[in-house]
Amino acid sequence: MGEYDFLIVGAGLYGATFARLATDDGYKCLVIDRRPNVAGNVYTENVNGINVHKYGAHIFHTSDKEVWDFANKFAEFNRYTNCVVANYKGELYSMPFNMYTFNKMWGVVTPAEARAKLDEQIALGKVDEPQNLEEQAISLIGPDIYEKLVKGYTEKQWGRKATELPAFIIKRLPVRLTYDNNYFNDNYQGIPVGGYTKWIENMLGGIEVRLGVDYLKERDSLDKIANKIIYTGMIDEYYNYSLGKLEYRSLRFETEYLPDTDDFQGNAVVNYTDAETPFTRILEHKHFEFGKGKGTVITHEYPAEWKPGDEPYYPLNNERNNGLYKQYEELAASDGNVIFGGRLGKYKYYDMDDTIAACMQDYKRITTT
Ligand code: FAD
Repeated sequence: MGEYDFLIVGAGLYGATFARLATDDGYKCLVIDRRPNVAGNVYTENVNGINVHKYGAHIFHTSDKEVWDFANKFAEFNRYTNCVVANYKGELYSMPFNMYTFNKMWGVVTPAEARAKLDEQIALGKVDEPQNLEEQAISLIGPDIYEKLVKGYTEKQWGRKATELPAFIIKRLPVRLTYDNNYFNDNYQGIPVGGYTKWIENMLGGIEVRLGVDYLKERDSLDKIANKIIYTGMIDEYYNYSLGKLEYRSLRFETEYLPDTDDFQGNAVVNYTDAETPFTRILEHKHFEFGKGKGTVITHEYPAEWKPGDEPYYPLNNERNNGLYKQYEELAASDGNVIFGGRLGKYKYYDMDDTIAACMQDYKRITTT
C-alpha cells in the first residue's frame, strides 16, 4: 500500500478535475507537473493586469449542466460570448457564417435571399464525389465564401494546398440564416473571472501539488508512493516510444505588450483568412474580460509543423497515428497500475468541457470497479 491512493501526473484540467473528485470522496492524492505552474494548456499569465491565454484562446462553452455546475464551483464565469471576426485583405466578415456574413458578401438582407444566393453558389461548384478539401468545401458552401473565408485559413492551418488535403477534413460547414454571430451553439459560455490559472488553483485547493517534477525522471520512487497512477502526459512518451512516435500539429505564439495602445482590434479574436498573411489569428486578451485599462496584450498565432520536443497541440488523427495509438492503448490495458486520461493520454482533441466530462466518467469507472 502506497502513501497516496492516486498519483496524478499533470496539473492540467484533467488532472485537477480528477484530484478534486477523488479528494472530495476521501481519497488521498498527490498531483505533480513537470511545468513550474498548474493549469497545463489552459494556463493564463497576468501581464499588467491582463490575463494572457499563454497556449491559445480558451473559451469555456458547454451544454452539459453537470459540467457547467462543476466548473462554476471554482470561479464565477463572465458573460463573454465568442464572436469571431474574419479579416480577408482588409474586408471584415462575421464568423461563423451567418446573415451578417452573407449581407457583407452579397448584399442580401433576408434569410430567403441568403438561401437563394447560397443555393446558386453551391450549384456553381457542386461535385458529386469531392476528391479533395477544395472540392468538398465548394460543394458545401460555393466558391465566394470558400475563396475568401475557408481556403487560405485552412491551407495555413494544415501547411498544405487545399487540393492536396483529403475531403473528409471538412464534413460540414454550418450556416445560420439568422443575425446571430455567437460562435458556439452551447447553452453556457464564459471565461472564469480572474483567469483560468486561478480557476485551476481553486479546483486544487487543499490538495498536495508538486511542481517542476517530471514523472519520467523519477518514476521508480514515485511508483512506490501511490496505489494508482493517473497519467495525463503523452502515452507514447510514457512507454518510451517503444512502438513509435505519435504526431501532432503545433502552434507558435508571439505575444507582445503594447503600453501605448488601449484597444488594438476591438475584439478578442480576429482570424486572418487570406493565404499571404503568415499568421492565422490575432488575439487581444483584454477583450476576453471586457478590460478597459491602459495598454493591451496581443498574440499572433502561427500554425507550425510539430517535431518531437515541441508543444503537442493537436493530435494528427490520420490512419497511421490512430493505428499506433490503438497499439499503445492495448499496451496500457495490460498495465494494471496506470490509467491514461486527458488530451495527451487519450490522443484526442478535447474541448475543456469534454475533458471534464471524460474525467468524471473515468473517475466513476475507476472508483466503482
Ligand atoms: P494539459 O493541459 O496538456 O495538461 C497535461 C499536463 O501534464 C501538462 O501540464 C504537462 O506539463 C503535464 N505532464 C505531461 N507529462 C508529464 C510528466 N512526465 N511529468 C509531469 N507532468 C507531465 N477548449 C475549449 O473548451 N475552448 C477553447 O476555446 C479551447 N481552445 C483551445 C485552443 C488551443 C490552441 C488548444 C490546443 C486547445 C484548446 N482547447 C479549448 C482545449 C483545452 O486546451 C483542453 O481541453 C485542455 O487543456 C485539456 O487538459 P488536459 O489536462 O488533458 O491537458
